[in-house]
Amino acid sequence: MRKKFVAGNWKMHKTTAEALAFAASFKSLYRDAGVEVCVCAPFTQLAALKEAFADSGVKLGAQNVHFEEKGAYTGEISVGMLREIGVDYTIVGHSERREYFAETDETVNKKLHKLYEHGILPILCVGETLAQRDAGEAESVVAAQLTKGLAGLGAVQIGLLVIAYEPIWAIGTGRTAGPAQAQEMCAFIRKAVASLYDADAANKLRVQYGGSVKPDNAAEILGKPDVDGALVGGASLLAEDLLKIIESGGQK
Ligand code: 13P
Repeated sequence: MRKKFVAGNWKMHKTTAEALAFAASFKSLYRDAGVEVCVCAPFTQLAALKEAFADSGVKLGAQNVHFEEKGAYTGEISVGMLREIGVDYTIVGHSERREYFAETDETVNKKLHKLYEHGILPILCVGETLAQRDAGEAESVVAAQLTKGLAGLGAVQIGLLVIAYEPIWAIGTGRTAGPAQAQEMCAFIRKAVASLYDADAANKLRVQYGGSVKPDNAAEILGKPDVDGALVGGASLLAEDLLKIIESGGQK
């Protein structure tokens, strides 16, 4: 039985003071609903949040990492630096990084290998553009992202993986994939991974849906059998909204 997993992706939002205010209000209302919870914050907020969320059960995530161990890469952050803080998860291959920061399936693949080497779990983002969906290419685009992104990983690593299906046309637009569409693509991803690796690993990995998940649509989306959780952008910035989404995942 896969445990539901709701992760907030704050993107480039919140100062440390704002992050600590969020943590205080979140913790005052949070009750374990049998759902794994993670907050993926900007790098500069991670250490403060690690302390603020200590003993709360809330996991901590980064939003990116470099694939080299160390070196002359001005402005970059290594996996060792994240591990020292106690980061549990790291988002890799978010569409915003693919679009604005030259992330490719090849760099995604290197990052996944480096994260597993250091014991941090990746949340791998995949998803198609609206033009690709309209051209009937959603499945082939996502299948190619998976084939290249996961190259060389072992079945145990695949079983521990979290994949976030985030159709680019649904991110920050208020337009969500309908629950049926989310289910269809999450099931497709599991099937594609089963054919690339093995059915057992594919059955263990968790597939989140991301793209305009809000308190009022979360229950229906999270109620689908192949949707194992959500990667939440805008609605994760308010503790009350993120809590409502988490509770929706616990209703199943
Ligand atoms: P929104 O929930 O704001 O649409 O963002 C989704 C997302 O990109 C999460 O990674």
